[in-house]
Amino acid sequence: MIIVMKKKAGREQIDDVIQWIESVGYKAHVSEGVERTIIGAVGDERDKVRLKAAEDMPGVDKVMPILQPYKLASRETRDGDTVIKVGDVEIGGSKCIVIAGPCAVESEEQLMATATAVKKAGASMLRGGAFKPRTSPYSFQGMGEEGLKILARAREETGLPVVTEVMDASDVKLIESYADVLQVGARNVQNFALLKAVGLAKKPILLKRGMMTTLDELLMSAEYVMASGNDNVMLCERGIRTFETSMRNTLDISAVPVLKEKTHLPVIVDPSHAIGQWRFVLPLAKAAVAVGADGLMIEVHPDPRNALSDGPQSLKPEKFHKLMDEIESIANIVRKGYAQGHGAH
Ligand code: PEP
Ligand code: MN
Repeated sequence: MIIVMKKKAGREQIDDVIQWIESVGYKAHVSEGVERTIIGAVGDERDKVRLKAAEDMPGVDKVMPILQPYKLASRETRDGDTVIKVGDVEIGGSKCIVIAGPCAVESEEQLMATATAVKKAGASMLRGGAFKPRTSPYSFQGMGEEGLKILARAREETGLPVVTEVMDASDVKLIESYADVLQVGARNVQNFALLKAVGLAKKPILLKRGMMTTLDELLMSAEYVMASGNDNVMLCERGIRTFETSMRNTLDISAVPVLKEKTHLPVIVDPSHAIGQWRFVLPLAKAAVAVGADGLMIEVHPDPRNALSDGPQSLKPEKFHKLMDEIESIANIVRKGYAQGHGAH
């Protein structure tokens, strides 16, 4: 159920409602909006009508059922958009942010060269996999902890926060000790044990849509993370599998506005893994910004031909620079409804 407080409800009244919700065995998730406070009471669905009694409490405006199966991720339970802060970077706010870097950390030289180049071009965060989910067990699996250390050094050097993938629940603590954002990849979107584990992490989560995941399933996966206690989830559309074989996946551009209507969580688009070919990354990136994405994730490599993974879809630094320039004017138009300071980067 959602307990909507009156506009003028005071702190004490809000606290009383939270206490009461918890006393009847539900968990209270408080969203303090600009206009009013909304409290999501999440717990046993069969018994929820008893929460209606909160309607008689001082400061309560109304008590309504949450219609969607995803409760915490639903727009119904928040007043406004979730803005996730990672250092100085705000995801879901006025700017369309760009996360860039190689598919995998391959060496200190490769990562530093990429990090300094993407920083110069205006990227907000650095990506790079240290634990790689490869289709073949014989392909490069990532550098593991050594890769995490290199990522942390690149952050020191450039100031860019670092995003990296976690594949196993038992690695969450290790990866969290190096990274700023934990990525859950497409192949693990319904690995519920992993989702619960990253829900206990203190760092934000970038949750990628699976290649066969509906938007409601993606939101239920976000719900797992949030129900475990981590509200800072950004969703990522990275292409789904369709009958079309001309590209690696089909970028579901319509996922962006539809998700933005269903959820208050930020939505990122990864055109690189969707299309699989560097030539088409720029037009898709432009489309993603135009359709309202809160950010982009772009693979960049100083020497794509010799990349150990995803070379064909990786942009060289010069091409990435061009991408940053070209999306800026689109971002300025699309995000002009936001507060001051909009821009592509
Ligand atoms: C990646 O970001 O490098 C990756 C493996 O992505 P996805 O999980 O979307 O395939
Ligand atoms: Mn990749």
